[in-house]
Amino acid sequence: MATDYQIGIIGAGIGGLVAALALKRSNRESFVIFERAAEVGGVWRDNTYPGCACDIRSHLYCISESPKADWQSNYASQPEILDYLRDVADAREIYPHIRFNSDIREVAFRDTDGCWEIRDQTGQTTRVAIVILAVGALNRASIPSLPGIERFRGQSWHSSEWDPAIDLTDRRVAVIGTGASAIQIVPNIADDVRSLTVFQRSPPWVLPRDQRRISALEQLIYRRVPGARSLVHRTIYAIMEVIALAILGNRSMSGMLIAIARRKISKEVDDPDLREKLLPDYAIGCKRILVSDDYYPALNRPNVHVATEAIREVVEDGIVTEDGTLHEADRLIFATGFTVADPDGLVRVVGRDGRVLAEQWARDGVQAYLGTTISGYPNLAFIVGPNSGPANSSAIHVMESQVHYMLQYIAAVEKAGSGGFLDVDPDVQNRFNEDLQNRLTKTAWNAGCSNWYIDRQGRNTTMYPGLTSQFRRRTRRMKLSDYIVANPSSQPTPVTSE
Ligand code: NAP
Repeated sequence: MATDYQIGIIGAGIGGLVAALALKRSNRESFVIFERAAEVGGVWRDNTYPGCACDIRSHLYCISESPKADWQSNYASQPEILDYLRDVADAREIYPHIRFNSDIREVAFRDTDGCWEIRDQTGQTTRVAIVILAVGALNRASIPSLPGIERFRGQSWHSSEWDPAIDLTDRRVAVIGTGASAIQIVPNIADDVRSLTVFQRSPPWVLPRDQRRISALEQLIYRRVPGARSLVHRTIYAIMEVIALAILGNRSMSGMLIAIARRKISKEVDDPDLREKLLPDYAIGCKRILVSDDYYPALNRPNVHVATEAIREVVEDGIVTEDGTLHEADRLIFATGFTVADPDGLVRVVGRDGRVLAEQWARDGVQAYLGTTISGYPNLAFIVGPNSGPANSSAIHVMESQVHYMLQYIAAVEKAGSGGFLDVDPDVQNRFNEDLQNRLTKTAWNAGCSNWYIDRQGRNTTMYPGLTSQFRRRTRRMKLSDYIVANPSSQPTPVTSE
């Protein structure tokens, strides 16, 4: 049966854009991108809270084929990144491919035709040969159900749902959480609010950020001097890979990072009791290692208080902790992160023989092959799928490794002919995941703290247990023998030649 497009991409965040650029580079123009919002950018469009910025250095957090020479600072702010992504989409003529306000409800494989049907919120169906799921990982807000929340008289919201009209001047504000979002929000609102209570369940490990402006002269050098920008990119990349060794089990590296983090607390936090409270008691890297220059200084302010007792309930005018203290608040910010490891709320993907991905994953555990393809869901590729999360480096690097692999996968699907499909051999996927889970046991992520990498069954379903350079090597060449190739008219057969 005829398809409307060769390829359908779900999501116009960075992953979707990186995939679209790769398709264009390979002279494939028959693709459509479905985007539920009215603009590109994904998390960089959605997260607009005060201080929102990337905690990966700007020259590394860049799409390789569209590098930006004129980043304004070491760590780019959310508006600058969003502008960059819009510019890339515009310059590379991606916009004409995007169907905005198209919220995909179901992606279903038709066994009889070997193609996919993509259905949006209006019921409109688009038929494609290949699906690229670029739905992002950090967009299902996790809000704890706190007892008594319905009684709260003030306003409350999640960090990813920041309304630009919000004015916190002279307000009594509560921030729940001390993760990557919270430590950017806190210093950026502390000046304006009357009081700020930060509810900390477990303190993060925080390293120096050393944020600085990139001067006009430096920007000129990056623009004009051949190799200058790429040298900086490569240097930062190499440093991040070395730091990542701490997460992957290198004790000397984690010891060094802990010493730096401890020194930072001693230097930047005035109150000795507060210093104690801010010192993590779990392996560095078990939760995301954060970088900040202004979080600890903000906590020294007289209007800022760190509450470490567990939250008992929310009342009309604030939050009561287990010690019975009422922390008065009229604004409550949930900086409580996202649901990532569990498949709840994932777009409905129906594979071969009617199997449903979220149900299968809920039952058997979330897994894929190289974070990219999934057995039982042929002609479908995931960007930043299960266990592809990078240790301390740019997610864009991982996405680019995946699209390099994906182009080979797409070429093989095309070679299989009309309606032909490529499905990962389940044994290959199982072996890959056994090895992966085994290697993960040696990483800091699996060292016993609570984090968003581990699912309800205690499996790490999000992170790759190696360096991003190792992931790149692993995805450099697609082995056709890892796949079962089939044509709708024939029974699937394993392929032995490459
Ligand atoms: P997060 O790192 O998962 O942090 C959530 C925080 O909320 C944690 O401190 C957690 O405490 C706390 N929390 C959750 N439920 C709670 C409850 N019931 N009571 C008290 N505290 C509770 O979430 P996030 O800060 O939104 O960051 C998520 C991810 O987004 C990051 O890891 C990062 O990958 C990404 N991000 C990146 C940037 C960037 O600069 N590139 C910026 C923001 C976010 P526990 O630690 O005790 O669970």
